[in-house]
Amino acid sequence: MARILITSAIPYINGIKHLGNLVGSQLPADLYARYQRGRGNEVMFLCATDEHGTPAELAAAKAGKPVAEYCAEMHEVQADIASRFGLSFDHFGRSSSAQNHKLTQHFAGKLAENDLIREVSERQVYSNADGRFLPDRYIEGTCPNCGYDKARGDQCENCTKQLDPTDLIEPRSAISGSTDLEVRETKHLYLRQSALKDQLDAWIDSKSDWPVLTTSIAKKWLHDGDGLQDRGITRDLDWGIPVKKGAQDWPGMEGKVFYVWFDAPIEYIACAGEWAEAHGKSDAEWERWWRTDKGADDVRYVQFMGKDNVPFHTLSFPATLIGSGEPWKMVDHLKSFNYLNYDGGQFSTSQGRGVFMDQALEILPADYWRWWLLSHAPENSDSEFTWENFQASVNKDLADVLGNFVSRITKFCRSKFGETVPEGGAYGPQEEALIAELTTRVRAYEAHMEAMEVRKSAQELRAIWAAGNEYLQSAAPWTLFKTDPVQAAAQVRLGLNLIRLYAVLSAPFIPASSARMLEAMQTTDDSWPEDAAGALSVLAPGHAFTVPEVLFAKISDEDREGWQQRFSGVRS
Ligand SMILES: [Zn+2]
Repeated sequence: MARILITSAIPYINGIKHLGNLVGSQLPADLYARYQRGRGNEVMFLCATDEHGTPAELAAAKAGKPVAEYCAEMHEVQADIASRFGLSFDHFGRSSSAQNHKLTQHFAGKLAENDLIREVSERQVYSNADGRFLPDRYIEGTCPNCGYDKARGDQCENCTKQLDPTDLIEPRSAISGSTDLEVRETKHLYLRQSALKDQLDAWIDSKSDWPVLTTSIAKKWLHDGDGLQDRGITRDLDWGIPVKKGAQDWPGMEGKVFYVWFDAPIEYIACAGEWAEAHGKSDAEWERWWRTDKGADDVRYVQFMGKDNVPFHTLSFPATLIGSGEPWKMVDHLKSFNYLNYDGGQFSTSQGRGVFMDQALEILPADYWRWWLLSHAPENSDSEFTWENFQASVNKDLADVLGNFVSRITKFCRSKFGETVPEGGAYGPQEEALIAELTTRVRAYEAHMEAMEVRKSAQELRAIWAAGNEYLQSAAPWTLFKTDPVQAAAQVRLGLNLIRLYAVLSAPFIPASSARMLEAMQTTDDSWPEDAAGALSVLAPGHAFTVPEVLFAKISDEDREGWQQRFSGVRS
């Protein structure tokens, strides 16, 4: 039995995510986790909310709540939606956890011990009215280039000119509007990534099986221009993990916190500690996933993320792990995704354009979305959600192919043989041909799933469903029944067993529907079809079943048009 550690990029806390976010990391990670569990492997699938940083503070202020309370509430909201989407995390943690505080401070202490941290003095804008330093984009003023009066300290949105906060005319705080600003000196810690450049380079060179997209992004950051830059890992904020050197205070760093990008990936590890605590397990239980000196040597670690997160996962986080000098498990495979666009444009959280996870579940069950999103995953290029395509895919693949197969064979059996698997007859050449085809296709499906080729896996699964339909169409037991009821019984028996087989194979994509199919077949045997012929005789003659309710309802043109209208902009 293999041991597989899976992490999905952790979603930011401020609000509900759209379908583009979902398909870019959590959903394909869930597909892979469910598949690996289905194969009998030991899986640890971790995700969490990313809770620190200024955007969380501002979202909390907007909601009129203390930031800790806001984060606790939004974590519950995101956890609930994730569970309703069938995301099967072993633990959904929080980057604000006690475990992450301790571990982040531990890593910073180790990096300092290894001379990989330096202190830098910077001049930053301080707002007296707000009692805090302001990040560049929270300073507003008039653009010196075009005169736009809402230019931000990092860039003018109107003329796109890159700016420094001190360039702005009449600068003011974007938080309070106060103009009582001054430039103050402040000290920050920098991680000396440049000192780790050769080690990171060698580590990436050892990953010959990584996609070129991934390694080329990492290599660009390592070598372009002046090469890999040192990175600030602290901020002047209240909300975050206090800067400490392990358990010790860090002189000169009082009142500062670690930068959210430093502590967020460390949460992948801390989350396993939260899992252990939640289940009353010892530290050794989670360390065997993460420490190569404590049992993680045989773990295969796979990360899922959008392409914009690749640099942090190939360079910054590995720099933290390598720089610690401790034997932490490093990523073995990194699966990254392009972007999903929405109906001729982009998903937009700020404009409420597109479908958000909570809204999706208000209109249709999770499996409809899971199937479309995964079968159209933006793997090799960006892909686009359109309502026409969604409707066509749901109606054809789910309703006409899979749903129709299940309905047809169970209803026919009930009408001619009753609600038990019929006995008699034997498989002939047609059935043998189907078994041979399924054997080939199931092996291909496994290979695509192992390789995390999401679209190809979906295509193969669809072909497996279609093979059953084609068989039924050509065998036509409803016709044969009139002349050879014994042979028709054998065909129906095969068909009923196919439902169980489909339930097992489809579970990673459409887990709720698969569960309903197994329930209708009145079996809990969800063993993987290592051998197609054997798998098609699991339900023996006399085994009782029930005819399930319609598995997938078709989407009407009227519904489609209504939803298209509803989600075209401005989330209400
Ligand atoms: Zn401008």
